[in-house]
Order: sequence, then C-alpha cells, then structure tokens
Amino acid sequence: MPYKANLAALKSLGVRHVIGTCVVGSLRKEIEPGTFVIPDQFINLTWGRDDSFDIDRQLIHLPMARPYCEHVRSIIARELGMMKMPCQAHGTVVVIQGPRFSTIAESKMYAYVGGDIVNMTQYPECYFARELGICYGAIATVTDYDVGVPSTISMQPESMKSVLEIFRSNTGKTVNLLEKLSAAAQEIKKCSCASDHFTEYYKSTIKSGM
Ligand SMILES: [Zn+2]
Repeated sequence: MPYKANLAALKSLGVRHVIGTCVVGSLRKEIEPGTFVIPDQFINLTWGRDDSFDIDRQLIHLPMARPYCEHVRSIIARELGMMKMPCQAHGTVVVIQGPRFSTIAESKMYAYVGGDIVNMTQYPECYFARELGICYGAIATVTDYDVGVPSTISMQPESMKSVLEIFRSNTGKTVNLLEKLSAAAQEIKKCSCASDHFTEYYKSTIKSGM
C-alpha cells in the first residue's frame, strides 16, 4: 500500500480529515462477523515499513496516546447508529505484517495483550495522518474470527464461502456509510488531535523532493 504517497497527496489537496476503511478479523467471540468497529487504539507489530516523513528521524516525536480522532470517530458512530448497523464504538486493532495470516498461538497472544481485532494496514496509514496534521478515523469491518477464536467462520477453506459473503455484505454497507459520511462532511470540524506543527517540516520535505 502506498500509504505515504496517498496521505501526502491528500495533504497537498488541503484535506483535513481522512476516514480509512479496513477489513479485519475478530479476536473476541463477542465481536461477531458483520460488526463495524471504530478503532481507538492500535498495536503495531509491523516491521520494515516506510513509516515517517521525517527522513532523518531526528526532528519529531509525536504524541500517539490517542492515535484516532475522537471527533471523526463520534461522527462515524452516530451515522452507524442512524443506519442501525451492528457497531462496536471502541476497539484496539493489532496490525500485523502479513501477508500471511496468524497462527493460533499468535492470534491468542494478540487477544491476550489487549487486541480486539487484527489487520495488516492500519499502520502506518493512521500515523502518517498524524504527522501531516490530518484528523484520522477508521471503519473496520469484521469478516471472520481470527484463528485463535474457535469458530466455523474463519479463514479456512471450508468456511471461505461464508467469509466472502460477509465481506461482500460489509462492502456494500461500507459504501452506504461513506455516502452518509460524505453528506455529513460539512459538520466535521478541524480539531486539535492532530497538530499542525509538523506542517513546516512537511513543506520543506516536499520542496526537497521527499
Ligand atoms: Zn481530530
């Protein structure tokens, strides 16, 4: 995923808010396939990804206690509620490197350390938005249970048909949700979660060709 190019392009267009979408597996029995989760924390277990505009890695140590914009999250939750969609308003997403899926032992460990859902793309997308002073929220759609949760709906050959049906259903609902959020865009205000203090460095980086 060209996370850096995508976020840089959005920033150059003057975008102030980004709502990302991602497909996730559930690490908890109570978070059922078909649920829409609005993450509020991530645990990054990826490695080797280009994850900063700060090429020298000397200039910035950005706060990431709350990586997702609470204001954007609240708007997503409101729209999901109005659409009467199954929603979990909080969740910790464990971001794994991929491309392979988890082992049972890994999956159980992710839940043990506090993960609710597992995914491969939320990092560094979420962090790049913060570096660029963009409010970021995500819609995580659950397609299946990760392998640490005993279930008949998981990424196994015998249950792939069910998983793909849930995936297609989630995708259709996500498009509807994004249309509602787009209509509500005027309500989404710039908040202080993502400071603009990185902007000057960003501009000089762009000038020098990144
Ligand atoms: Zn914000």
